[in-house]
Amino acid sequence: MADEQGTSSAILVVGGGISGLTTALEAAEVGNDVFLIDKNPYFGGRVAQLNQYFPKLCPPSCGLEINFRRVKDNRKIRTYSMATVKSVSGGPGNYEVNVELAPRYVNSNCTACGDCEAACPDEMDNEFNFGMDKCKAAHLPHEMAFPRRYVIDKAALSAEGAEAVKASCKYNAVDLDMQVETITLQVGSIVWATGWNPYDPTKMDNLKFNESDAIVTNMMIERMASENGPTGGAIVRPGDGKEIESIAFVQCAGSRDENHLEYCSYVCCMATFKQMTYVRERYPEAKIYVFYIDLRTPGKYEKFREKLMADENATFIKGKVAKIEPQADGGVTVTAENAVTGEKINQTVDMAVLATGMQPSTAVDAPAVDLNMDSNSFIVSDPENGTIATGCAKKAADVVSCTQSSTAAALKAIQVSRR
Ligand SMILES: Cc1cc2nc3c(=O)[nH]c(=O)nc-3n(C[C@H](O)[C@H](O)[C@H](O)COP(=O)(O)OP(=O)(O)OC[C@H]3O[C@@H](n4cnc5c(N)ncnc54)[C@H](O)[C@@H]3O)c2cc1C
Ligand code: SF4
Ligand code: SF4
Repeated sequence: MADEQGTSSAILVVGGGISGLTTALEAAEVGNDVFLIDKNPYFGGRVAQLNQYFPKLCPPSCGLEINFRRVKDNRKIRTYSMATVKSVSGGPGNYEVNVELAPRYVNSNCTACGDCEAACPDEMDNEFNFGMDKCKAAHLPHEMAFPRRYVIDKAALSAEGAEAVKASCKYNAVDLDMQVETITLQVGSIVWATGWNPYDPTKMDNLKFNESDAIVTNMMIERMASENGPTGGAIVRPGDGKEIESIAFVQCAGSRDENHLEYCSYVCCMATFKQMTYVRERYPEAKIYVFYIDLRTPGKYEKFREKLMADENATFIKGKVAKIEPQADGGVTVTAENAVTGEKINQTVDMAVLATGMQPSTAVDAPAVDLNMDSNSFIVSDPENGTIATGCAKKAADVVSCTQSSTAAALKAIQVSRR
């Protein structure tokens, strides 16, 4: 039975990454009721997976924790994790939205004590760490997860595991009979903040992502560099754990290519410069090679680029990578043509990092409603018709640009909700 809540001046924010959190806070702090939903068992989106933010290189946990506290302290915001929109009816100023809540199998009694995790015999790939390690079927989604509540992946749980997790919980928080629920929300406007996914690296046959452990993506490097990541902060070659003496960054991996993502993903040059600092911190002498078409570091990011390009052990090669080939010793050879000298380069390195771009999540997993999207599946904002999009749901962007567009989205949403 659907539970009905909301008013015609309430706002629904779909997606609880930095963009959705900002939109929700801005709208609620003006006095609107806000529903903030996310399909994940936690809020924070992709930023929660980053090791540090450019350009200041501070940990993302700082910014996210402040936002989580503001959300917790604000009675105008109601949050739902593991929630997706199933249908929308009505129009601007007066929507009825059906939201489906997937079962978490852990209720609000959970104190995050971790006993179920310790007792659980079943393991699964840790999605938060891009499958670079395993987690238990009963786990906290990640160390700083908000809400701080465990989740159980029932598909990964054996009969023996089910008995063990139930028996381990002293707080009666495990509920393996939990069912899918639907709630109905009455809202005046909807903001889409559904963000992005890393472009699937297996789609680029020439880069051989699946054929060598030495080929990783830029988001995998973020997790490796994180102290709470799969290697405890060490950047080593997956598979054999070799320390890095040489590393290549392959820019525009999928972006600016009509066969993949036709646009520039905006952040991946800056992400590579940031990741050069991760490598340098751990390996002062390692050789770094950056293969690029153009280096795009707009506005204030220029200074950061200049500083990193002065690194004596870093070589910048203007040339699109034609192929990467795994080598018998576990390394890889990166082949490109230097666009300045015309010379063909075959550079063998311990590890190659694909600077994969940002694809809107709606390209892979669109909400079950009619949304106005461009040919790349970015949502096109049209507040007159009630479509308001923000952050990377709208275009590839860094965090600062996302928070700016989210403040604007909150204002639009308030205007639409007061029609
Ligand atoms: C390698 C790399 C490094 C980066 N480093 C930096 C950096 O140092 N500094 C910086 O400023 N930027 C950086 N960025 C960019 C930064 O990650 C983005 O700007 C930021 O994640 C955008 O936030 P968002 O909220 O728009 O999207 P997301 O972070 O993707 O959040 C979207 C949220 O929506 C949820 N969602 C998706 N679909 C649905 C649905 N149908 N229903 C409900 N919920 C849904 C998702 O679960 C997610 O929680 C980096 C990007 C890359 C690729
Ligand atoms: S579900 Fe129970 S055992 Fe598991 S973390 Fe929560 S309170 Fe602890
Ligand atoms: S930001 Fe740099 S690496 Fe990313 S698509 Fe644009 S030019 Fe290529």
